[in-house]
Amino acid sequence: MNALGIGLRTEEELYVHIEELLKDPSHQSHPLRLALEQLYDLSLAQNERLQRLVRISDGYHEVSRHKTESLSQQYDRQLRRLEKLARISDRYQNSLRELSEALKIAALQDPLTGLGNRRYLMERLREESERVVRKGSPYSLALIDVDHFKSFNDSYGHEVGDQVLCLIAQSLRAQVREYDFCGRWGGEEFLIILPETDLEEATPVAERVREAIKEIRLEQSQEAISLSASLGLSCFRLGESFSETINRADDALYRAKELGRDRLEIAA
Ligand code: GH3
Ligand code: MG
Ligand code: MG
Repeated sequence: MNALGIGLRTEEELYVHIEELLKDPSHQSHPLRLALEQLYDLSLAQNERLQRLVRISDGYHEVSRHKTESLSQQYDRQLRRLEKLARISDRYQNSLRELSEALKIAALQDPLTGLGNRRYLMERLREESERVVRKGSPYSLALIDVDHFKSFNDSYGHEVGDQVLCLIAQSLRAQVREYDFCGRWGGEEFLIILPETDLEEATPVAERVREAIKEIRLEQSQEAISLSASLGLSCFRLGESFSETINRADDALYRAKELGRDRLEIAA
């Protein structure tokens, strides 16, 4: 109760009470009636204004909630798009890696025989020469040139010639050890590199290669063909370049040709 004897009411009860007071004819001439009426109207107007503000504020919150939602949806969409792009980029990079790997292999491989090509052999020679300088154990190499291959092509045709070059490549692979290298030096010439092998150990390997080439038969007919090769063998010497080792093998090969072919000559 307050000083006037009116108990504390809810806002709604208070409004109802004031409306009743204003309607009561016995209060018409009360000196405070007009002031109460004006206060009542003012309060109603204030209330109305307050509610409008609340509605505006609610609306604003609603819009901003929508905005936030659509922003988070946009974020999710962009994230999914980025993930997709990352997957595509990964795939692209993988195929690029595979492609560059394939190119690297192709750049070092002879397309006809599948053996390493001259560039591959040069890389191995450089590595092996560096190894000799570091470790001191020599490597040997054998330059192999097919005998009278021009007339072989003339007799059997270029295609059979190609086939025979592939058979020679297979034969070389079969004759050398796993850690030896063989490749196509060019045309009907091949090179084998025998790491950590001196001339004494390399000679029987080179002889075996020469014998194996003579055993080659044509695939379809198994026909014996008069196929042979001449070989020049040399061993890397400390202080020389691998080109000099190759040149000495080439000189030995030339000698083998001069001495009748189908033979092995060892470089001085
Ligand atoms: P030599 O005993 O003196 O070595 O005689 P050659 O006939 O083998 O030597 P020459 O250098 O006169 O000829 C090499 C031949 O090798 C000529 C060429 O047509 C043939 N040749 C080189 N590369 C290929 C190839 O990829 N396929 C075929 N089928 N023949 C090739
Ligand atoms: Mg030749
Ligand atoms: Mg030849």
